[in-house]
Amino acid sequence: MTHRATAGVRVSRVVEAAVVALALSLGLFALPGVARAGTITVGDVTQTSADPKSIVFKVRVQAPAGLQSATLDYRLFNPDTTVGGSQPAEVNGATTIDATVTLETNTATRYIPIGSRFTYTWTLVDRDGARVVTPQREFVFLDGRYQWQERTVGNFTVYWYGDNARNADLALQAAASATNANEALLNVKLNYPIRLVVWRRESEGEMAQQSRGAAFDRQVITGGARVAPDVVHLYDPIGGFVDVVKHEVAHIVTKVAGDGPFGRLPSWIDEGTAVYAQSEPGGYRPAVEAAIRADSLTRLKAMSSPSNQPSRVDIFYGQSWMTVKFMVEKYGQPKFAEVYKAFRAGGDMDAALKQVYGVDQDGLYNQWRESVGLKAIDFPPEASTATAPAQGTRAPLGIGVTGTGSSSQGAGGTGTSAAAEEPASKMVLAIIVGLATLLVAAGMGFGAFRLLKKPKA
Ligand SMILES: [Zn+2]
Repeated sequence: MTHRATAGVRVSRVVEAAVVALALSLGLFALPGVARAGTITVGDVTQTSADPKSIVFKVRVQAPAGLQSATLDYRLFNPDTTVGGSQPAEVNGATTIDATVTLETNTATRYIPIGSRFTYTWTLVDRDGARVVTPQREFVFLDGRYQWQERTVGNFTVYWYGDNARNADLALQAAASATNANEALLNVKLNYPIRLVVWRRESEGEMAQQSRGAAFDRQVITGGARVAPDVVHLYDPIGGFVDVVKHEVAHIVTKVAGDGPFGRLPSWIDEGTAVYAQSEPGGYRPAVEAAIRADSLTRLKAMSSPSNQPSRVDIFYGQSWMTVKFMVEKYGQPKFAEVYKAFRAGGDMDAALKQVYGVDQDGLYNQWRESVGLKAIDFPPEASTATAPAQGTRAPLGIGVTGTGSSSQGAGGTGTSAAAEEPASKMVLAIIVGLATLLVAAGMGFGAFRLLKKPKA
């Protein structure tokens, strides 16, 4: 995925010439430096990704006066927010150089998923103060280990490689039908384009996934994940490819319907709706049925984040699914959509459920328990009246990872020694930008399709 172009620096040079002409016409003397200032010449501008871990941005520059700085400014687009950052390349006053910035995309503190849409420019300044900004370039970040093909139908663009065209077509069809079904279920309309990235098998997509810790990754298969509001990864047709697609596309719609300014959906309703969108719940059904028999279920309130225990993954999805199914069947679709709407407006699931059904999460959990033949539980009243903020389905950041607070990682990237040359304020800015990227990654919501690799022992 290398894009090449010679940048149109001519415009800047024309402007430069006009300024010089103006200066001369006003009777000003052109300083010696000005004559050389217009001579920053931009050659190839490229971005490449050998794999999902990083993007290498390069610009070829000739600057007879010596290059003072070369700074990459990038922006990442998604329907919620646009974030980005700046990263300086090391140039050391060179007159001819391939200025290079490496953006790490999958670290403990930053996850920029494959399928993300970027724009970027380079700002080049020479030692005489001449400044050139390259024309804005745009690209979709793809996994450079494969030769990608793409196809767009309606709102969806699918990316695939190898002999996987059939799954790409299936993905487009399933995405369209799951979108319609979930728009009808949740009374919302999806109004932005979606990108679906299809790997051939999970081992090939592994590097593109955000790790949840080695032990978890080893025991759990991730079939797919909504990695951004508008990007779905499809790693593996476990449990049926079409159902993985339906599950992930449902997450796109749940986000539109439920994630609001005050919080993200608790995982149980997000995952429950996504499994409910599948043609059938697959292995999640026997898992939750066994948990019902053993009465080893989880209080709904405690299911605001996905389970970190591999052995509980299938039960978590199964219980979420049965709870959502119960809500839709007992109270009907319009009220189910109202729960989403109420949550989106207030960010409080207990309040949303009370408003629509007259019970909070414990009350709903007990209604469901009784519906499957279990006794209601007498939960003691809350010690505090303060409602805990919803955790939402979040990026599993920091799970099984230590030292996630490192600001040097947050500032991100290349390890070019910006510290020595950059003023402190710029460093702080870089860190803030790094953190902004991190926060957005965290806020994207990572609804996934996961299954235990082996039946529970
Ligand atoms: Zn999911």
